[in-house]
Amino acid sequence: PPSSMNSIIWFRKGLRIHDNPSLEYARKDSKHLYPIFILDPYYLKPDLSAFSTGSTRSGLNRIQFMLESLHDLDSSFTKLGSRLLVLNGDPLQVLARICKEWDVKRLCFEYGTEPYYQTLDKQIKDYASAAGIEVYSPVSHTLFNPADIIQKNGGKPPLSYQSFLKLAGEPSLPVASTVSSLPPLGNNVDYEMLGIPAIKELGYGDVLQEEFSPFKGGETEALKRLKEVLKDEQWVSNFEKPKTDPSAFLKPATTVLSPYLKFGCLSSRYFYQCLNDVYKNVKKHTSPPVSLMGQLLWREFFYTAGFGTPNFDLMIGNRICKQIPWNDDEALLVAWRDAQTGYPWIDAIMVQLRKWGWIHHLARHSVACFLTRGDLFIHWERGRDVFERLLIDSDWAINNGNWMWLSCSSFFYQYNRIYSPISFGKKYDPKGNYIRHFLPVLKDMPAEYIYAPWTAPLAVQTKANCIIGRDYPRPVVNHDIASKECKRKMGEAYALNRQSNGLVIRGEHKKNS
Ligand code: FAD
Repeated sequence: PPSSMNSIIWFRKGLRIHDNPSLEYARKDSKHLYPIFILDPYYLKPDLSAFSTGSTRSGLNRIQFMLESLHDLDSSFTKLGSRLLVLNGDPLQVLARICKEWDVKRLCFEYGTEPYYQTLDKQIKDYASAAGIEVYSPVSHTLFNPADIIQKNGGKPPLSYQSFLKLAGEPSLPVASTVSSLPPLGNNVDYEMLGIPAIKELGYGDVLQEEFSPFKGGETEALKRLKEVLKDEQWVSNFEKPKTDPSAFLKPATTVLSPYLKFGCLSSRYFYQCLNDVYKNVKKHTSPPVSLMGQLLWREFFYTAGFGTPNFDLMIGNRICKQIPWNDDEALLVAWRDAQTGYPWIDAIMVQLRKWGWIHHLARHSVACFLTRGDLFIHWERGRDVFERLLIDSDWAINNGNWMWLSCSSFFYQYNRIYSPISFGKKYDPKGNYIRHFLPVLKDMPAEYIYAPWTAPLAVQTKANCIIGRDYPRPVVNHDIASKECKRKMGEAYALNRQSNGLVIRGEHKKNS
């Protein structure tokens, strides 16, 4: 009989109570409900050789954000008469063990579209079906089920935003009800499972980092942030992404909801519905691709492309990715990664990335273009890896998709349009306040030199306490020369791609938003 059934709700992303169909289903007719989170070594295994401590895949900022999100979830569960249980190990082994121990007949978890979850979830479903356990795994991380869109498009993901929009239609609505209570845990849970570890307990050696990202994890924080955003209906309805300022850091120019969407502390469907409500209240609002709702649809676009493209995270074997003979230059890569390029705009962004785990979209454009087709001609996969590690919003589909975009490997092909590492930032922030904040070594450099400090006369450098070549590096490349060389190589690579196969995708030459 259903009322005597024990169920597990397994959290991976989707770290929230609101709009959570797995939780809604799991709590129905369960005698005992075990909410669990598994500390998965795939994501969390320590990598002490890494350039900053953390796991093999994630820097400490994101791990800390995740732990904060788990604390928030646990305190919500406590209010609902339950607790979050935290386990450690390979998910398949852990699940097999506890399903048996707790006599579980139903396993619920959010559907995962990424390759890691596709493989893992297949193993878990096979195990469950052999063990007579029901699996419920609904799509709730995205507005749409990427598989539906791909099917509507004849089996392939749409590769332009406009064609994506035409296929997409209206997304499904969030779950209407709010959870007011949860079935209790069984009395056979280990006491040890009731604690969320501190970051110092995860084996990353001495966690020297004292300060973590200013953005705190958790559903409570996500909903608070969303509420703040929605309060200003004019701002929401006039939002135009390309007009937002990448150098704004005291108050970022966009929502900074990305880390909350990444971990599912905020439901994209709920966010979408709230935006719809604001739009209904105002006379006029902006539209995709530049509107705020348009940003959420970019997320869907990349999720769909990532789901339907084998080897989406690689150049080789990826049918939508141009084959480009990128250079392999470790010293240049390290200079970029460690904020030592000698271009203050680029280096300040890389410092913000490391400290905050979040940078503005156009800041991402600047450093991604610089690393790849703009100046250094280094493989986008290398830059992707650095972002994947340092971003608190690091997201498999969005990160890979945008790196291909910025490197003109896919989606966008105007390789002649290169961001200047000197004049682009200056347009927004002529005084260089952003640079002064994140690169204090340049804080006394006069505004007229701050974007190109190597051009300052020695007397000026001396007065500013910053001698170029000693206190701050000289530029690693000459932008004028390097960018011309990059364009030439891109031209050659494009010609070869055209010749060598019919696989080159004719994308729409659209400007990114
Ligand atoms: P808002 O402008 O407030 O947008 C709201 C939400 O829409 C975002 O939270 C995000 O979920 C979504 N969104 C916005 N822009 C995009 C976009 N271009 N593509 C897809 N979704 C978008 N975003 C990530 O979430 N994770 C990543 O790993 C990531 N890697 C990126 C790598 C590169 C090289 C570039 C150029 C962009 C990347 N982005 C990534 C996209 C984008 O820069 C961020 O989503 C955005 O800056 C987050 O800030 P926000 O929440 O204030 O955005």
